[in-house]
Amino acid sequence: MCCQPPKHKDDIDRLFRENIRLIRTAPKGLKVLGISGGEPTLLGDKLFELIAEIRQCLPDTSIHLLSNGRAFANHGFAHRLKTIAGDKVCVGIPFHSDYPGDHDMIAGAKGAYEETMLGLYTLASEGVEIELRIVLNRLNYSRLPLMSEFISKNLPFVNWVAFMGMEKTGLAVRNLDKIWIEPREYIPELTEAVQRLYDWDIDTAIYNIPLCLLPKAYHQFAEQSISDWKVKYQPCCEECALRKKCCGSFATSSEPYVGLKPFAYGNL
Ligand code: SF4
Repeated sequence: MCCQPPKHKDDIDRLFRENIRLIRTAPKGLKVLGISGGEPTLLGDKLFELIAEIRQCLPDTSIHLLSNGRAFANHGFAHRLKTIAGDKVCVGIPFHSDYPGDHDMIAGAKGAYEETMLGLYTLASEGVEIELRIVLNRLNYSRLPLMSEFISKNLPFVNWVAFMGMEKTGLAVRNLDKIWIEPREYIPELTEAVQRLYDWDIDTAIYNIPLCLLPKAYHQFAEQSISDWKVKYQPCCEECALRKKCCGSFATSSEPYVGLKPFAYGNL
């Protein structure tokens, strides 16, 4: 369901130069700088050059690196990240299922589960902060409560777990029949999964799901997670009492989730 699939052209050197320029001209007070992809670890040495540049130009900025985590199965790779980035780095890693076959199928790579799990343990042994990301889709929603149990027993060291609504763009559109599911169909499994992690005292967040699709008791977990350049509020949001607290919709999605309904003022 990658929302920004790689293009079939070699633009690595051009983008590397552009990113170095952006790092050098970024405001010094920048709180967080995100590195996404594709898969940034495929850059190899160039990724570490970028991170070293960030550390030199922006020593106080936290780095949030999105990765499938597989490269960190190599202990040397994980150690290099920690050595160059220091303490202010968090790796966001998608975890598609506690069942290896499902994880590999969703990742589209045989053996991905094993490498990602090893990468998670290796990063933890290096003391790197980890955000575990579960993108909600038709192939994994029924196991969400079991996944929470699995995480609490086997990955209790992660710093937090984020359940994420899917963006209807990129590869998600190409694979819509297989993976798309409206949030209103998975809310029971999602809330049970969130509750189980909460009960195990593991920090948990819900990203990209508008408040009007969540039971009120779970609003406390919902974050305003959609980047400002791709957030959109639908016409019905204009009259909603929770607009300021709600994540809204993806401007990049071909259509918003089904069932949006404004909260009336005075009825909260
Ligand atoms: S109506 Fe719009 S602003 Fe209100 S909760 Fe739903 S998506 Fe959010």
